[in-house]
Amino acid sequence: MSGDLFTENQELRQKLESLMAQARLNEQVMRRFQDAELRMLSVGSFKELLQFVLNEMKEAFDLDVVTLAIIDQEYEIRRMLMDIGISATEFPSLIFLENPSRLLRICGNSLEPVLGQYNADSRSSFFPRDTPPASIAILPMLRQKRLIGSLNLGSRNAGRFAPGMATDFIGRLAAFVGICLENLTNSERLKHLGLTDPLTGVHNRRYFDQRLLEEVGRAQRQSFPLSCLFLDVDYFKLVNDQYGHQTGDCVLREVAWRIKGQLRSVDVLGRYGGEEFAVLLVQTDVTSAQIIAERIRQSIAGQQFKGEGEEMLPVTISIGVATLPDCNRSQKAETLAQALVAQSDQALYQAKQEGRNCVVSGTQ
Ligand code: GH3
Ligand code: MG
Ligand code: MG
Repeated sequence: MSGDLFTENQELRQKLESLMAQARLNEQVMRRFQDAELRMLSVGSFKELLQFVLNEMKEAFDLDVVTLAIIDQEYEIRRMLMDIGISATEFPSLIFLENPSRLLRICGNSLEPVLGQYNADSRSSFFPRDTPPASIAILPMLRQKRLIGSLNLGSRNAGRFAPGMATDFIGRLAAFVGICLENLTNSERLKHLGLTDPLTGVHNRRYFDQRLLEEVGRAQRQSFPLSCLFLDVDYFKLVNDQYGHQTGDCVLREVAWRIKGQLRSVDVLGRYGGEEFAVLLVQTDVTSAQIIAERIRQSIAGQQFKGEGEEMLPVTISIGVATLPDCNRSQKAETLAQALVAQSDQALYQAKQEGRNCVVSGTQ
C-alpha cells in the first residue's frame, strides 16, 4: 500500500515537474512575443518597422523566412516608401499585392490564419521560390475589418506549423504589425499633405525650402554643383481674366506636369507661389541647367493648352537660372541657399524684362 502511494506520489511529482517546465517554456514564449510587441510599438519609422519585422524577427522567433505582403492597390505605399528613400531592393521580403484576391484565395472569406505545408501552387507568391520553407503560417492582417495584407512565417522544420495548431500568439503578432503599418502610413500621409500643393499635386514651398537647405548642405559636403530654376507663367492674369479662374487652375496643373516631365526623379520641384514654380537640379552645372530650362520652356510654349471647352490657349513661361558652382564649405548653408534663390529670382526678373518666354542665367 505504502509502495503504491510512493509510486503514485512519484508519478504526480514528475507530472508536476513537466507541467512546471511547460509553464516556464510558455512564459518564455509569451515574453518573446511581448518583447516583440513592445518593440513594434516603439518604432518611429517605416524603415525601423521593416527592419524589425523582416530581419530581426527571424532570429527572435527562430524562423527561416519572414515576409510581409501589403495590399497597395493605388500604389500609395510604394510611392510613400520611395519618397522617404526606401528602395524595393533594400527589403526583398516586402511584397506588394495589386489587389486582395491572391490572399483571399488562400485564407478564404473567414480570413483565418493558414498553417501547414508549403505548396508551390498557391503559396509560392508569399515566400522565396529559390529557398522555399517546409512549413508556413500565413497570417492575414486586418484593420477595421479590411484586409491590408499578411505576415508570412516559414520554417525549414516541416512540423513547425501544422493545421489545427493554436494561433493566438502569432495572430496577435500579425495584428500588431498591421496596427504599426497603419499608424506609420497615416502619419506619412499627414506629412505628405503638409508638403504637397493640393492644386497641382507637386510639392509646396515649405517642402522646397526644406530640401533647398538639405541639397545646398550636400553640395557643400560633396563639392558638386547645384542649380536652381525660378519659373513664372507669363501674363497669367490675362488667362484668368479671359478664360476664367477654373481654366487658370487647369493651366497651372498642366504647367506643373509639363515641368515635372522634363526632370529626373532626384530633382526637386515645388510650387513656390501663385503661378511661380521653383526647381532644384542636383549635380547640375550651369550649362546643363540652361539646357534643361530651355527644354522646359519649349515643352510649354511648344504645345498650346486645352482650356475648359474646346478653346486652345497659348501659354509661355519665363525662367531664371542660378548655379552654385563650387560650393564654398566655409559659408553657412542658409546663406548660400538664400543667395541661390535670390539669384534665380533676379534672373527671372531679367527674363521678364527681356520680353518673357525665355531663359536667363544669373551670374555669380
Ligand atoms: P507676368 O508675365 O509679369 O508674370 O504677369 P502675370 O500676369 O503672370 O503676373 P501677375 O503677378 O500680375 O499675376 C499673377 C496672377 O496669378 C494673379 C493671380 O490671381 C493669379 N493666380 C495666383 N494663384 C492662382 C491660382 O491658384 N489659380 C488661378 N487661377 N490663378 C492664380
Ligand atoms: Mg506671371
Ligand atoms: Mg508671378
